[in-house]
Amino acid sequence: MARLVMKFGGTSVADIDHIRNVARHVRREVDAGHQVAVVVSAMSGATDQLIGWCAAALSNRQIFDAREYDAVVATGEQVTAGLLAIVLQDMDVNARSWLGWQLPILTSDAHTSARILEVNGSELIRRFAERQEVAVIAGFQGVYQQTGRITTLGRGGSDTSAVAIAAAIRADRCDIYTDVDGVYTSDPRVVPRAQRLDKIAFEEMLELASLGAKVMQVRSVELGMVHNVRIFVRSSFDRPEDIDPRGNPPGTLICDEGEIVEQQVVTGIAFSRDEAQISVRQVEDKPGVAAAIFGPLAEANINVDMIVQNVSADGKTTDLTFTVPAADYQRALDVLVAAKPAIGYARLDGATDVAKVSVIGIGMRSHAGVAAKAFRALAERAINIRAITTSEIKFSLLIDAAFTELAVRTLHSLYGLDKATA
Ligand code: ADP
Ligand code: ASP
Ligand code: MG
Repeated sequence: MARLVMKFGGTSVADIDHIRNVARHVRREVDAGHQVAVVVSAMSGATDQLIGWCAAALSNRQIFDAREYDAVVATGEQVTAGLLAIVLQDMDVNARSWLGWQLPILTSDAHTSARILEVNGSELIRRFAERQEVAVIAGFQGVYQQTGRITTLGRGGSDTSAVAIAAAIRADRCDIYTDVDGVYTSDPRVVPRAQRLDKIAFEEMLELASLGAKVMQVRSVELGMVHNVRIFVRSSFDRPEDIDPRGNPPGTLICDEGEIVEQQVVTGIAFSRDEAQISVRQVEDKPGVAAAIFGPLAEANINVDMIVQNVSADGKTTDLTFTVPAADYQRALDVLVAAKPAIGYARLDGATDVAKVSVIGIGMRSHAGVAAKAFRALAERAINIRAITTSEIKFSLLIDAAFTELAVRTLHSLYGLDKATA
């Protein structure tokens, strides 16, 4: 007997037929004698619709009360948790639904992007033992204990709910069921030749996720790494009856680096179009200028990512270029305009039609020249690189958004990640 967490994303619970399919996956594991906690997302598109309604509800103010936004958007998961419990009971599987505040899942008070602080899994464990009851838990939500108000965990947050619950109930495995059958060398929607990885190290998955691969929420990977949860990414679209619960289904295990025998130099390519570039032209080339620019941005809670400072030609002024999330672009420009007297610059330039393409691999720690190859390959395709950042196991390139797919596919081939064609 094992204890499992099974998480199903939005496309896996898109309608009642899909929810029935999910219930059959759950029943397969229950019939095999396992204790099961299920975590569900909202039906695909439901969260977007709820967010749209929040925006539409405002006509006088610019921003809504984040606590009320959470009260609205958390409902998507309540619907699917209840529906799955009904379908399971209809199949004679003992099940009940749980909302975040009922367990409870305690979080910080950062409404709309709260962090999980503590999960109480004791009641679930008691019910596994005494009633063989399946727990169906609404993902993406928790509660801030001091106020008792509902919180949500940021987009894609049901992954984090699942991993946190797996850690709390000491599950043997946390299965993330989604619309792809594992983690691929790049987004299979963009790179048809991408290959499924049998295993990926936590550190690499963390980079892939934070650099744009939305298959796992970043925070869920961090939690998995800290609590050593075995996370297995797999497809919910396989017929439940065709899967042997004791066999080796297709999927990707996210695990410790030490468990990976054949480590490639490059493991995957990620990309993100949610970037914007800002150039501050002709700032004085003197100590304190960077602080004058980035201090106010940090105070405004704007995350600055890539930073490039040109060598000044005249010894007096220079240009400073950096990226911010596209959603913060206008706010960042406003902050810089307000800080102009303190910074002192001639002009601000910006662009939102940029993309960040990143190459990730633990093998880069011990191999030189990996990035240089990429610069050459992109130059041959006339793709201009606007900025570069590197760290131990990854490097990122900022390019024109129009070239995203070409750049991703070029780098995917360059590092030998393409699937052999038949
Ligand atoms: P869910 O609704 O199940 O949480 P998501 O849409 O959040 O699913 O994540 C799954 C999607 O992630 C896939 O459909 C795929 O397009 C995308 N994706 C991006 N990068 C990767 C990758 N490297 N491997 C697998 N899927 C990826
Ligand atoms: N429903 C939420 C979202 O769409 C959480 C999730 O699906 O993980 O972001
Ligand atoms: Mg997701």
